Amino acid sequence: METVKVNASKAYDVIIGQKTVALLGKKIKDFFGDVKVCIVTDDTVASLHGEKVQGYLNEENLKNKTFVFPHGEKSKSPEVLFELLEFLAENRFSRKDVLVALGGGVTGDLTGLAAAMYMRGMHLIQIPTTLLAMVDSSVGGKTAVNLKAGKNLAGVFNQPELVLCDLQMLLTLPSEYFADGMAEVIKYGVIADKSLFETVKDGDIARNLEKIVARCVSIKRDIVNEDEFDTGKRQLLNFGHTLAHSIEKMSNFEISHGSAVAMGMLIISEIAWKNGFSDERCQDEIIDALLENNLPITCPFKNSELYYAAENDKKSASGRISIIIPEKIGHCKIMNIALAELKELLE
Ligand code: MG
Repeated sequence: METVKVNASKAYDVIIGQKTVALLGKKIKDFFGDVKVCIVTDDTVASLHGEKVQGYLNEENLKNKTFVFPHGEKSKSPEVLFELLEFLAENRFSRKDVLVALGGGVTGDLTGLAAAMYMRGMHLIQIPTTLLAMVDSSVGGKTAVNLKAGKNLAGVFNQPELVLCDLQMLLTLPSEYFADGMAEVIKYGVIADKSLFETVKDGDIARNLEKIVARCVSIKRDIVNEDEFDTGKRQLLNFGHTLAHSIEKMSNFEISHGSAVAMGMLIISEIAWKNGFSDERCQDEIIDALLENNLPITCPFKNSELYYAAENDKKSASGRISIIIPEKIGHCKIMNIALAELKELLE
């Protein structure tokens, strides 16, 4: 078992290992005393893990309710958010009580926002059940729901008080979802850790999973500690993501986030090398790492098409955009360029 300590506006532990979720009841008792707990989860995760998690609360005689919503990105909406808030009110939850987000990125984002809003803030624990959520969305405190105009447009920064990454939960994760998470792991390797990258490129995953997750969480922790509110260094985490958002949007979200990030990392690496922004040619190694981890290496859209989608991205306010350039494997830099320049680069 490994513990990564985060020191953002709130200090909290991310505990990574086998059966860490069994600690839930005890941790809540220790931290908050005799509180009520609301587990928030989607229908898929509820059927896989709901009863077990509830069991850990019952063992400690903690009163609990479960709020279940339909799985999928569509539920990351103001409607489901307010259903959850009404559910908390109907069941007489108070601000001393605890919300437990049990699921992937959608569940974590939705629950994190509800925890910030309900009675101006209640306690929050994240139990990510996907690799993607473990290495990325459950740590760092970004929460949001989608609006009609785009993804993640209504949200706040709200750090959890504990994150439990239970690697056993990954055993029930379909392989394409696992690959999705590996795209983010490869990203961490490229932006901050060559040896992590090598491990992943060699496909030596299962044996090293605990270390890999802990390493990704530590990299994210270091960046979030320095730039919690995403005004500078945190942008490094967006390596491959500007184009990925375009790819997701253009595919009508048929292409998963991880696959889109894979394509985005590769395209930006090729552009960076061609234009002399990189010290080393990174794309060949990135291709090897993507192939080893069942991720795509070709994009169905033209670069020029991606530009027009990026132009509409919320990150491009002010006519400029930050792109993340791999100087070499293990080190990236942030380049702030005019949109016109990005257009040229993509052409
Ligand atoms: Mg991502």
